[in-house]
Amino acid sequence: MNSKDLFNESKRYFPGGVNSPVRAFKPYPVFIEKAKGSKIWDVEGNEYIDCCLGYGPLILGHSDSNVIDNVCSQASIGTAYGAPTENEIKLAKMVIDRVPCAEMIRFVNSGTEATMSAIRLARGFNGKNKIVKFEGSYHGAHDYVLVKSGSGAAALPDSLGIPEDTTKNTLTCPYNDEDALKKLIVDEKDNIAAVIVEPVMGNIGCVEPNNGYLEFLREITEENNILLIFDEVITGFRLSSGGAQTYYSITPDLVTMGKIIGGGFPMGAFAGKHEIMEMIAPEGNVYQAGTFNGNPISVKAGISTLNKLDQDFYKNLNKKGNYLRNQISEIVDNLDLNIQTVGLASMFQIYFNRDKVTNYEIAKKSDIERFSIYFHELLDNGIFIPPSQFECNFLSSSHSNEDIEKLLIA
Ligand code: PLP
Repeated sequence: MNSKDLFNESKRYFPGGVNSPVRAFKPYPVFIEKAKGSKIWDVEGNEYIDCCLGYGPLILGHSDSNVIDNVCSQASIGTAYGAPTENEIKLAKMVIDRVPCAEMIRFVNSGTEATMSAIRLARGFNGKNKIVKFEGSYHGAHDYVLVKSGSGAAALPDSLGIPEDTTKNTLTCPYNDEDALKKLIVDEKDNIAAVIVEPVMGNIGCVEPNNGYLEFLREITEENNILLIFDEVITGFRLSSGGAQTYYSITPDLVTMGKIIGGGFPMGAFAGKHEIMEMIAPEGNVYQAGTFNGNPISVKAGISTLNKLDQDFYKNLNKKGNYLRNQISEIVDNLDLNIQTVGLASMFQIYFNRDKVTNYEIAKKSDIERFSIYFHELLDNGIFIPPSQFECNFLSSSHSNEDIEKLLIA
């Protein structure tokens, strides 16, 4: 069946006609048939260079041979045990050796579960209820930290159709604004359990913290008995093997991870200091469990992936990211286009705006209409990116120089 027929068929089964996170395709979504390395092919046989990478997990590209061999051999000896395995310990050690704040860890099944669990844990640990999050951040499809209502393909992540938090347990603060957070903390510090932050906001384009902002978050939370949670579902193993914590040299109390940790298979994790994590031990008072926690397939894929992520790996990958961003800037300057590219390491985003305002302001203001035209033009030119301006694009180690040149031409 072609994409059009598949879409018509799928409308019978899925609300809005799609089950995958990809949305807002006009006139119908691209249905994928297969993928390998940096490429995906749709059911019509069109080939695309993929800069969405499954929304980020595939840092090695699609179906890395070594990951797949290991996963297949694991599948032949069991896919779900409901009991601990040696590999689980091996992966835990790999994460704890790399991620500064991780002294103990719990594997779950997605980034959403990881952030929900970390928030529940923070509340249980210090007996307070409120959570501070930042405007434009995304922490998963749950209502702990999503507040506003609204909908639409191009909606900001603050507006995902979640009803207003009537308990007022979620406090939303502008990102990179020290004074706003100071004020909130003066008013509410006895009620705030944790501040949760995407150290680099990857769900509103790609917005870096101002110089010193993460240090400020660390200090103000510590001074006020508030836990600091880094949501590293995107940045974990993406910016460096220790994630944003290593990249910016700031250690939070808790970290949430997802995407890359499962090597392309469903998995999330949360980790942190002993005294906090011990609250979920059997005798602790914070409940966390899941049928597929630490399932052997995702664990094996995670081990196979993390094994490859050494310093040279990041040096080479980030070089590609820098080259791509610099070249785009040069093209934009030469043609005097009203466009700019932002990002860091292997993350990038393009904005239809060159105003001299912060990245965050640009992300909020960018022209959605023009982005959707650009998205379709890119598709027509064989480039696949997330279909929303608010989601970051990624490169993997399997993107070749030739892929990058094609991206630049497109
Ligand atoms: N946190 C951040 C920063 C994310 O980017 C995402 C997903 O994109 C999540 C949490 C939720 O992760 P998942 O989609 O695996 O549930």
